[in-house]
Amino acid sequence: MAGRTPLVYFFGLVPGQYAAAWPSFVVADDPSSLTFTIAADEPHTLTGTTSDAAAEPIRRRYATGLQLHRLHQAEFRQRVVRAYHQACAICRLRHDELLDAAHILPDGHPLGEPTVPNGLALCKLHHAAFDRNIVGIRSDLVVEASLDVLHEIDGPMLIHGLQGWHGAPLQVPRPVEDRPNPDFLAERYEVFRRAG
Ligand SMILES: [Zn+2]
Repeated sequence: MAGRTPLVYFFGLVPGQYAAAWPSFVVADDPSSLTFTIAADEPHTLTGTTSDAAAEPIRRRYATGLQLHRLHQAEFRQRVVRAYHQACAICRLRHDELLDAAHILPDGHPLGEPTVPNGLALCKLHHAAFDRNIVGIRSDLVVEASLDVLHEIDGPMLIHGLQGWHGAPLQVPRPVEDRPNPDFLAERYEVFRRAG
């Protein structure tokens, strides 16, 4: 802390996987409780160009908030994708780079917590389709496509990517505590149904 040494903070996502947050600095030390406080900063502050010292605490508070948000999102993604064994819950696509953790109840909702029961591992296509009410998921874990989509005529992507999953069972984790919360699904399904 006295030397203002930039550090790399390794944030545990799931056992054995970390996200690196840098530069991070020790900004406070409390020996009585054996704890210290870390603040994040922006990488350009390391290049030696003179930075406004007065603006430093404000900039660091902002950077720390952004980093925490980013790390919690990364943690949510890792936990959800791992719970679903790296596969889309709708189409079973197993391509880690193409998988997201979708929120069932959205981020701003009072119950929209970044937890596995409020998450679904979905591929990019099905994540976007779920968020835009093109596909819906019933609380009995059945996938539905919107009426518009079912009546549309187009190429193989529409047929196999969307229409083909209408009525298909959602693939969920075996442990009950990792499965999607049925109340969250029911609430979200209402939004889908009304949008259709
Ligand atoms: Zn998919």
